[in-house]
Amino acid sequence: MEKKKFIPVCEPTLIGNESKYVNDCLKTNWISSAGKYIELFENGFAKYCNTKYGIAVCNGTVSLHLALEAYGLGPQDEVIVSDFTMIASINSIIYTGAKPVLVDADAETWCINPDLIEEKITKRTKAIMPIHIYGHPCDMDKINKLAKKHNLIVIEDAAESHGALYKGKKTGSLSNAASFSYYSNKIIVCGEGGMVVTNDKNAAEKMRLLRNHAFTKNRFTHEEVGFNYRMTNIQAAIGLAQLENIDKLVRMRINNAHLYNKLLKNVKGITMPPCKEWAKNVYWMYGILLDKDFGISSDMLRKELLKEGIDTRSFFVPLHKQPVFHKKFKKYKNFPEVNGSYPISENLGKNGLYLPSTSSLPKEDIVYITDTIKRIKEKAEKR
Ligand SMILES: *Cc1c(COP(=O)(O)O)cnc(C)c1O
Repeated sequence: MEKKKFIPVCEPTLIGNESKYVNDCLKTNWISSAGKYIELFENGFAKYCNTKYGIAVCNGTVSLHLALEAYGLGPQDEVIVSDFTMIASINSIIYTGAKPVLVDADAETWCINPDLIEEKITKRTKAIMPIHIYGHPCDMDKINKLAKKHNLIVIEDAAESHGALYKGKKTGSLSNAASFSYYSNKIIVCGEGGMVVTNDKNAAEKMRLLRNHAFTKNRFTHEEVGFNYRMTNIQAAIGLAQLENIDKLVRMRINNAHLYNKLLKNVKGITMPPCKEWAKNVYWMYGILLDKDFGISSDMLRKELLKEGIDTRSFFVPLHKQPVFHKKFKKYKNFPEVNGSYPISENLGKNGLYLPSTSSLPKEDIVYITDTIKRIKEKAEKR
C-alpha cells in the first residue's frame, strides 16, 4: 500500500549556509555564547529591522522578559496586552510582577483593538505590548499616539512578523523595543532563539548586562539580579544563514498565502486572513476563520483534515479563558482580570484554524489541501 501523505503544519526551511556555519562553530570550538556569529546575526537582523541594536537571546519568551526588565517593569505596574495571543506574551509580563490588562482583539486585523485601549489605562499603566498576530501588523499609529499621550512604553511582540510592514515601516522598528522569536516554526529560525531590537542605547546596554548574569567589569561582582538568557554561537550560525535568505523566505510565505486565498476565495463560510491597506502581512501562519455558512465546526474540519494527512492548529485560546488564570497560586498576585467580555477574541479562538504554512510548501500541497477542504464541506452538506 502506498504510504499516506502527511503534511505537517510547519517545518523550518533550511536552504542556505546553515550547515556550513554550524560546522564552522564545531571546527573552531566556538559553541557557547561567544563567537563571531552572534554579533553578525545581531547586527544583520537589527539592520534588517531598521533599528540600531540587536540583543540576541535564547528564545522569544525571554527576549520579551528582558525588554520589560530593561524598562523597569515591576509589581507596581500594569501592561496592556491583547486577549488574543500566544501564552508567552502574557507570561513575560507575569514574570516581572507587573499585572497584564486584557483588551479585546480587532475583527479586522486579529490584533489588539486600539480603540479599546484608552479605557483600560490607569495610573499604574506603564506599557502597551502590541502583538502582530500571525504576521499582520497592529495599527501602530493609534497605539503610539496613546502611548505618547499617557507617557507609556511600547514593546512590540514581533515573534510572528519578521519582515511585515506597517505603512512601509518594518515591524520591530515601531516602538521602544521589539522582541522576535526564531523558534523552528517562525519565519526565520535558530532552532530556539530570540532577539530584542531597539534604537534605545541605554535599554540595549541594560539588556546586554541583564542577559549575561549582570557581570560587571570586576568579574564575579554583581550590582543587580541578572539572567542567563544568552544565545549560543551555533544558534546564531543558523540564524545568520537564515537571515541571508530572509527576503526569499518571507516572499515564499506570502506567495503561499496568495495561492491559498485564490483557491479558497469562493468557498462560503471562510474568512481569509486580514490584510489592511496600510499593511504588508507576511502570513507567518495562514489562518482562516469559519462561520455558520461553512457547515461544520473548526474542530470538525481539523479532524477531517487530519484523516487526510493534513496537520493544522486551532487558533490561540483567548487569555481570559486560560484555566491557569482562573486559579489561585500563592506565588502569583498579578494575574489578569478575566471576567470581562472579549467577543472578537472569543470568536477567533473558537472558529479559527491555521493550515500548513511551511515556507517551502509545494504548490501541489496547497492545491491538495484546498481541494480536501472543499470535499469535506461538500460531504458535510450532503449529510
Ligand atoms: C512564538 C511566540 C513567542 C515565543 O517565542 P519562543 O521563542 O517560542 O519562546 C512569543 N510571542 C508570540 C506571539 C509567539 O508567537
